[in-house]
Amino acid sequence: MAKKINNRIVKCSFCGRDGSEVGSLIAGPDVYICDRCISSSVDILKNNLAAYNTAKPGKASLLTPDVIKRTLDEHVIGQERAKKTLSVAVYNHYKRVNSKSTFFELDDVEIEKSNILLLGPTGVGKTLLAQTLSKILDVPFAIADATTITEAGYVGDDVETVLVSLLQASDFNIEKAQKGIVYIDEIDKIARKSEGASITRDVSGEGVQQALLKILEGTIAGVPPKGGRKHPEQNLLNVNTKNILFIVGGAFEGIEKVIASRINKSKMGFGSDISGKQELSDDELIALVQPEDLLRFGLIPELIGRLPVIAPLHSLSDEALKNILTTPKNAILKQYKKLLAMEGIELEFDPFALDAIVKKAKERKTGARALRSILEDFMIDIMFDIPSKSGVEKCIVTRDVVLEKAEPIYLESGRKSA
Ligand code: ADP
Repeated sequence: MAKKINNRIVKCSFCGRDGSEVGSLIAGPDVYICDRCISSSVDILKNNLAAYNTAKPGKASLLTPDVIKRTLDEHVIGQERAKKTLSVAVYNHYKRVNSKSTFFELDDVEIEKSNILLLGPTGVGKTLLAQTLSKILDVPFAIADATTITEAGYVGDDVETVLVSLLQASDFNIEKAQKGIVYIDEIDKIARKSEGASITRDVSGEGVQQALLKILEGTIAGVPPKGGRKHPEQNLLNVNTKNILFIVGGAFEGIEKVIASRINKSKMGFGSDISGKQELSDDELIALVQPEDLLRFGLIPELIGRLPVIAPLHSLSDEALKNILTTPKNAILKQYKKLLAMEGIELEFDPFALDAIVKKAKERKTGARALRSILEDFMIDIMFDIPSKSGVEKCIVTRDVVLEKAEPIYLESGRKSA
């Protein structure tokens, strides 16, 4: 029999079934809901949550700047300022990307895309930072070289080619690629000829900068699936670059002079005594970089405008180079130690050997890039000899091994061998 309250038959306010047709009815102020409708509501909410979660790009929306920075710390030594700047920029970028698929569009304020410029000497971690970020965020990553791009009419690749490897990295899943990160290296090599210091430049530098503007800002780019030049009978893949994060990097050799002259000029303007000025190191000068310095160096104003985040990187100290050898998650020494441990041999580096490696690396002036090849140079002999040596428990690399390719110290179950 139908349930009555105050002589009125009570029904579920959602499906209209009365009390006799359902397991239970829950009452609110003047409304009722039955157990069936509660169960359907739970299913709807679960589906909505799942849809919301899949709309998120990788793990990005779960990560705060602090977490991003701490994870970068595990892979990249030093570069504190760049890591902090990048963590905030990337956090904001993905917040902006997410806001389109969820409910954050509360007003007309549109958060602009914050592409990033990494500026600093070669081999100090620019590419590594960009690459590590993509791993942390679990988004596809591609590296492109600005010098291989030319403007239409010249021999070379179309600007859309920078997106080809991003598509490859996403297994041609366009949706995924559209939330990825592209690192464009050597951006300083496409600086304009007329401005700035003594560097060799691509003839079509300015044209390439112009060509980059659109994809940096956000456009539907027709990408030739195999790269190179587009031609009319080719099928193009349409990629929307609006949510792709572009990180561009360059050494900007000579920009410290541009910065120094700006600083000195403004000092003179205030009537201070420049003869008593303190000399700033190149690193200190680069840390003071401003968009106007990039303009004087030869980047066009429109390109600078599309790179609102500038993160200067510094050269690496001896201590930092030593740390790079030993501390990051996949440090080169850790890798060699693991390889030898697989042979049952402990690999040890004498502290003087580490000093010698760092000294050699500094002479090459390519930052941390030289470390691997210096190590490979002598480790190759050790890796060649070890499998045929029996009874060796430990291998100690000394300074002489690094500097003169001498034989390392091999210890055989507590004894020293030749
Ligand atoms: P660039 O600044 O020229 O882009 P990379 O990031 O390509 O330099 O660095 C070259 C290699 O040197 C990296 O693969 C990494 O092994 C090492 N390296 C450079 N800088 C750092 C750093 N700050 N921390 C850890 N490793 C680094």
